[in-house]
Amino acid sequence: MTVYLVGAGPGDPGLMTVRARELIAAADVIIHDRLIPVTALDGARPDARLIYAGKQGGGEQVPQSEITSMLVDYGRKGTVVVRLKGGDPFVFGRGGEEAEALREAGVSFEVVPGVTAGIAASAYAGIPVTHRDLASSVAFLTGHEDPDKPDSALDWKALAAFPGTLVVYMGVRQLGAIASRLIAAGRAPDEPAAVVERGTMAGQRTVVATLATLARAAAEAGVRAPAVAIIGPVVELRAQLQWLESRPLHGVKVAVTRAREQASRLAERLGALGAEVLVAPVISTETLPGPPPDLDAYDLICFTSPTGVAALFERLGAAGRDARAFPPPSAARVAAIGPATARALLERGIRADVVPAQAVGEALAAALGDVPVSRALVARAREARDIVPDALRARGAEVDVVAVYETVVEPLDEETVEAVAAADYITFTSASTVRNFLAAAGGAQAWLARGPARPRVASIGPVTSAELCACGLSPDVQATNHDTDGLIDALIRA
Ligand code: SAH
Repeated sequence: MTVYLVGAGPGDPGLMTVRARELIAAADVIIHDRLIPVTALDGARPDARLIYAGKQGGGEQVPQSEITSMLVDYGRKGTVVVRLKGGDPFVFGRGGEEAEALREAGVSFEVVPGVTAGIAASAYAGIPVTHRDLASSVAFLTGHEDPDKPDSALDWKALAAFPGTLVVYMGVRQLGAIASRLIAAGRAPDEPAAVVERGTMAGQRTVVATLATLARAAAEAGVRAPAVAIIGPVVELRAQLQWLESRPLHGVKVAVTRAREQASRLAERLGALGAEVLVAPVISTETLPGPPPDLDAYDLICFTSPTGVAALFERLGAAGRDARAFPPPSAARVAAIGPATARALLERGIRADVVPAQAVGEALAAALGDVPVSRALVARAREARDIVPDALRARGAEVDVVAVYETVVEPLDEETVEAVAAADYITFTSASTVRNFLAAAGGAQAWLARGPARPRVASIGPVTSAELCACGLSPDVQATNHDTDGLIDALIRA
């Protein structure tokens, strides 16, 4: 019906527009480029057709004529077609040509702008492209073509005289020729200039120099595509305004081994603090189906993980019930092992009465010390420590342990193990992540044999640390609060 020419932004998935996300979720066909955010297609329908139309392994680009006729064909078939491009579709993205072809073929189209790389990379580098005192105008130019080519579309003289910031979308190899052309045409060689590599993506780098020295500085730093150059006095503001590199975990590579279902919050928070996150789940959780326990039979109901909360509510849901199945507060107490578990309960309408600050069984057992209990339910994983049930039984309570989920081993391929080995930190959030990761890495001995270059070890708490020590891997960092936030705090302090 309609072909949507959609900008996917410069790389940071958070910079995709709401409209882009909506259209990706609705599309029958998505024809995308290479430079789109890594998670851009995650929201696509499972039955959507995803077609890659970028350069094949640095080689030949799918010819533009082919892409255009594909757009027209799918557009005519009456499907929802998304043409997803890096940055903005109309900024050096050939979106204009594609729109023209669609118009000619009588296929209706809409354009969804995106955050363009030149603006985004500058912003993330702490360089305002305009500034009241330093630049009242900004020009975007493409330096992909060979600047020495006689029919170059660029008017170097006009660009050199341009009274404002120049932002150049270019191949890094072109940088020297572009700078020489500008200088030859009269631009000051000592004008501040910067090149921003992988703007807004993990590992963004910025090299600052002058127009005359930028190409050399970039080559020395090994700057590679994609990159933009920014030329103008505004570049000097970076010295005060750089913010990306000041984030507490900037540039720190952190591997996350916990189950994918639980990894996202940790990964997101680490990413927001500047870390490069590698999600390498070595376990996954599977809920165990069964009838919901009769909650009215208990005067204490304990949860030892957010997954346990989700799994119990799944059982309630399957039986057509909800939070109202819990006994009233006058009849029973609800206990959560820590703040994350309490949050999972609260999200489902249950406020936990007992929440120790430390999310470990011992702390929960201690916190339950004064709570009167005759019959308790512990909803938890199939394989777990018995600290809480034992402590309650020791006080004469009758305890039912209900396994509402189990953790299963998730294999890691060799490539992922190698990627983890190259990280600065590997995080372990349970004893089972330790065991499974080491098994995937060929055993503790093989892992230790990698020597001091292997990642430092971050443990969520004493139980996980004990397992690490038992494997000969003492943790370099251990969280004081045994939850996601505690682990992040420990990494920041390390
Ligand atoms: N339509 C895109 C630009 C496509 S041209 C947009 O609006 O951003 C491709 C060029 O854009 C690359 O060669 C590079 O110069 C620049 N570019 C794209 N993504 C970039 C990024 N994340 N960081 C730096 N430059 C980027």
